Amino acid sequence: MNEPATLFVNGNILTLDRFAPHAEALLARDGRIVALGPGSETESQASPATRRIDLGGRTVVPGFNDCHCHILGFGLTLDQIDVGTDAARNIGDIQHLVEQRARQTAEGAWVLGRGYDQNVLQEGRHPTCNDLDGSSHGHPVLLWHTSGHALSCNSSALELAVVHAGTSTPPGGDIERDEHGEPTGVLKESATDLVFNVVPPPAAEQGAEAIIRAMKVMASQGITSASDASTGTGSSIDPELDMYHRAATSGRLRGRITVMPQIRYVAPPDTEQIREPRSFLSGQETEWLRVGPTKLFSDGALTTRTAALREPYTDTAGDGLMMWETPTLDSMIRRAHQGGWQIATHAIGDRAVEIVLDCYARALRETPRRDHRHRIEHCMLLDRELAARIQQLGIVPVLQPGFVSRLGDAYVTGLGMERASQLMPVALFDQLNITVAFSSDRPVIPGAPLDGIRAAVQRLTPAGATLGREHCVSALEAIRHYTMGSAYATHADSEVGALRRGSFADFTVLSDNPAGIPAGELAGVRVEMTVAGGVETYGE
Ligand SMILES: [Zn+2]
Repeated sequence: MNEPATLFVNGNILTLDRFAPHAEALLARDGRIVALGPGSETESQASPATRRIDLGGRTVVPGFNDCHCHILGFGLTLDQIDVGTDAARNIGDIQHLVEQRARQTAEGAWVLGRGYDQNVLQEGRHPTCNDLDGSSHGHPVLLWHTSGHALSCNSSALELAVVHAGTSTPPGGDIERDEHGEPTGVLKESATDLVFNVVPPPAAEQGAEAIIRAMKVMASQGITSASDASTGTGSSIDPELDMYHRAATSGRLRGRITVMPQIRYVAPPDTEQIREPRSFLSGQETEWLRVGPTKLFSDGALTTRTAALREPYTDTAGDGLMMWETPTLDSMIRRAHQGGWQIATHAIGDRAVEIVLDCYARALRETPRRDHRHRIEHCMLLDRELAARIQQLGIVPVLQPGFVSRLGDAYVTGLGMERASQLMPVALFDQLNITVAFSSDRPVIPGAPLDGIRAAVQRLTPAGATLGREHCVSALEAIRHYTMGSAYATHADSEVGALRRGSFADFTVLSDNPAGIPAGELAGVRVEMTVAGGVETYGE
């Protein structure tokens, strides 16, 4: 890339570099920071041809790095029906939205939607095929639960998927049934694949466009790097990698992408196979597209009561579910570790966190490796003892503080206040000097980083309860987790994270300094400009 040099002056630049935490000016050339410091000193390195941008005294932070989100998935939802809590308060609203979309949809095509949450719908339950059939106008309908761990579909979708009373429940999943044993259209965890697998996948061009659109929305929220936290669907990862490659070479991509291949393409269950990291995107990795950790699931989600707990849920029988028998999980983790992968395992409940730590510990004992940075995604419910093991093993918790402000009341319902208050124990991690990364898991929640940062500072649920005041962090700490923490979690901290000479010129200009205002005013802070590789990707 041969962009002209750009000099950004008159800024309140919070570099997060502990040796030089503050600067006034930044000179970017060929995508990188070539000078950073006091105004006069930095300006003296610019030439007359250098483009000049006056920041007007505004605050600059390193570009936000959403190290766990679903980029293609989010991009595709931009074309789907939003049945989220802001758009639909009850099942009647959902029926109306489905009906509207079904009327505009070509004959036989799927009507897809995303975002309902039975915890906040007035009926307090998932919509069923009986609810959806009358609004479908003959189209198959699939609505994803906000967590992505459950879905609701209509009878025509069940028919196409050949799911009926005689269908056996797949391991690690649940087919909800009525009193006659007939499926209700609500499928959870691995059972969602039964229906999802019959939805025609997007064409390569459509997928690439969805990725480009996703990164454009994210750039408008200050994001300069993002990781796709489970790349690939179906039997081959190649179609999705092709979409990411097309997006990255389009000249229109507005942020850096790390893909996280699903474990099934790396160390498939019930085999002894292992595929090495360099065999993915080989020859296609650039500064804008790279391969990161492999991703696997161990348990479900709290909002669907499928996260694996040590003690049962308070509002339903049961204590959640593990996706795999422990020997299978252990074998996948062991092989991926031996194959040189960084591993990112989804574990939400304390039972899942413990089992995953056992697997990591065994893999590391067998094949010690320095600086592996294996991760636990979400890492929500755990006690001090498990946190201490995370510290000893060098595991990185990848948290989504925005879950509290979006889903927090459902956590209280499902776990009781005491356990819900201890979710995402950031203070505990800080005490133990554990590097923490922040992210959004978008499209599970809308996912703007400033919303996540505010949630980490306040830990307020939608109903206004504070979940564990002792785990609130300062705005600057939250920004650090959303930038340097995520850079560490993706082994990208030599290039992004803190603003330093030599690193990528990736940063975000804010309307106000989050670290300099009371927590109650954080909601007013806006992203005014985003710069990636020295080029504006949003604003001005
Ligand atoms: Zn996720």
